[in-house]
Amino acid sequence: MQLYNLKHPEEKVSFAQALKQGLGRDRGLFFPAKIPLIDNIAALLQKPFIERSQEILAAWLSDEIPENRLNQLVSRAFSFPVPVVRVEERLFSLELFHGPTLAFKDFGARFMAQCLNELAENQPVTILTATSGDTGAAVADAFHGLNNIKVVILYPEGRISSLQEKMFCTLGDNITTIAISSDFDACQELVKQAFANEPLNRALHLNSANSINISRLLAQICYFFEGVAQLQRFDTNAPVISVPSGNFGDLTAGLFAQAMGMPVKRFIAATNSNDTVPRYLADGVWAPHPTRATMSNAMDVSEPSNWPRVEAILKHNGRQLSELQGISVSEEETRSSLAHLNAIGYLAEPHAAVAAEALQKTLLPAETGLFLATAHPAKFKERVDEILRTDIPLPRPLAEAAARPLLSERLICDFDLLKKRLLLLNQTA
Ligand SMILES: *Cc1c(COP(=O)(O)O)cnc(C)c1O
Repeated sequence: MQLYNLKHPEEKVSFAQALKQGLGRDRGLFFPAKIPLIDNIAALLQKPFIERSQEILAAWLSDEIPENRLNQLVSRAFSFPVPVVRVEERLFSLELFHGPTLAFKDFGARFMAQCLNELAENQPVTILTATSGDTGAAVADAFHGLNNIKVVILYPEGRISSLQEKMFCTLGDNITTIAISSDFDACQELVKQAFANEPLNRALHLNSANSINISRLLAQICYFFEGVAQLQRFDTNAPVISVPSGNFGDLTAGLFAQAMGMPVKRFIAATNSNDTVPRYLADGVWAPHPTRATMSNAMDVSEPSNWPRVEAILKHNGRQLSELQGISVSEEETRSSLAHLNAIGYLAEPHAAVAAEALQKTLLPAETGLFLATAHPAKFKERVDEILRTDIPLPRPLAEAAARPLLSERLICDFDLLKKRLLLLNQTA
């Protein structure tokens, strides 16, 4: 697989390089030189999830990872179910939260960990990542206990639920977690600064497991196909797919799937009140506001890092930006969406509620809607219980994590302090 830097197209890398490097020069995102087309989509959709995912990923990666190895990586990474659930006559949920940390980020993180294990050739690496919640848990779990890989996770102090925090800040071993006294964008900025710092990079072999890493996006393509495949059992319309978006990695993966030939009527970029993209789609002006804290906190992002890829895919395919629908959902609407879904028998959490609401607002009578349910409701138990006046039970992975003590450190939002801390980490084996 050949990729190039969107900011400096002359910089070309292989998948293995993009996997290890994360970003190119000037923090440019890597983008595939070619998007493979699937010849027989109908046959592909007939296949079981793992087999189909192996075929999809082989279309991208077979020149770099032998097919039998790749098949093994895929079946190890995707070892849990991905059900489509009918919510209403023409409204369906693609449940992406049945993995070990109960959120869709398990797909990308687990596949990335498998790829690094396969391609890093025993070179020690340090994963440095910023999380607004679920990435941290997924990355920590996917890499926990792997030899030669240290993981450092930054997160905004006090801006994620305490249960979310427990899911990735209690593991220890090769996992270090640092609460930063600022918001998610500031954490992401610290990570960017670390990657731009040559000496630090050389000393630690930094690698970002953020959704900017192309390996994660490739993994996520697979569940869009699975959603469409399962949906065909109920309804043969190409669906309108609503993607609850923060950094827009998920939507990027969906657009890759569409570019490969997956049938979809249109995509909705659903955001909370951090609405940079819906406003941009409406008036063509890119004008991020300061990030606002909302109850769908994994989407509290005002400068989404994957956006240049979204535009590049559309351009690659000769499509228009106007084909994307951008919908911003308020806190009030998120609450009522959650309550409405519960009233018709579907328990959701705020992120899925945002995506469902965006569909309810825009779906035409003859259309079929599929929204991505990106996290397990119990991951947002405090909020869900408060809105629905319920006391939902904790699934086992969460109950176990909740009982463990927090191992996080705290740090002021300052790059020099972070740098010192990281270098120290390298001295203690
Ligand atoms: C990360 C996350 C999102 C947003 O995904 P992006 O790829 O960053 O757009 C939505 N919902 C949940 C639960 C998440 O963890």
